[in-house]
Amino acid sequence: MLISQILRAKGDTVFTVAPTDTVGRVAELLHSKRIGALVVTEADRVVGIVSERDIVRAVAGGDVKVTSRPVSAYMTANVVFAEPGETLDSLLSRMTDRRIRHLPVCQAGRLVGIVSIGDLVKWKISEVEAEADGLKAYIAGS
Ligand code: AMP
Repeated sequence: MLISQILRAKGDTVFTVAPTDTVGRVAELLHSKRIGALVVTEADRVVGIVSERDIVRAVAGGDVKVTSRPVSAYMTANVVFAEPGETLDSLLSRMTDRRIRHLPVCQAGRLVGIVSIGDLVKWKISEVEAEADGLKAYIAGS
């Protein structure tokens, strides 16, 4: 299965913030949108990613003014991407190897979606179930 097929079903919405947005704003958005990560963009260019883990790390740091600090201080600037033509299995491996749960999807330098490990596991289960059903039907018919 290709990532483009998953994006067609789930949509291409990517919630973003600016590097100058505060940690408090990021926490608000993660909560209200019920998501685990936000892509950080500046003039339509991806400059980072911030996940709920970064927020936990920021709060655990003990800075009492943490919610008013800019997200640029806590985001990961070295973003790992996916492309729409890649397979579900290759992205699951990349996430496992890098220990990340979110991959923004880019095509020709343009952000065209984002997938989480939750999205991929859901599709993987459907794929495996469809294969199992196919095998059962084949065995029953032979
Ligand atoms: P996550 O597992 O996605 O909640 O993120 C764990 C850590 O990896 C956090 O520090 C994130 O900023 C970072 N991270 C998450 N996704 C990516 C990504 N696609 N590229 C680079 N770093 C990431």
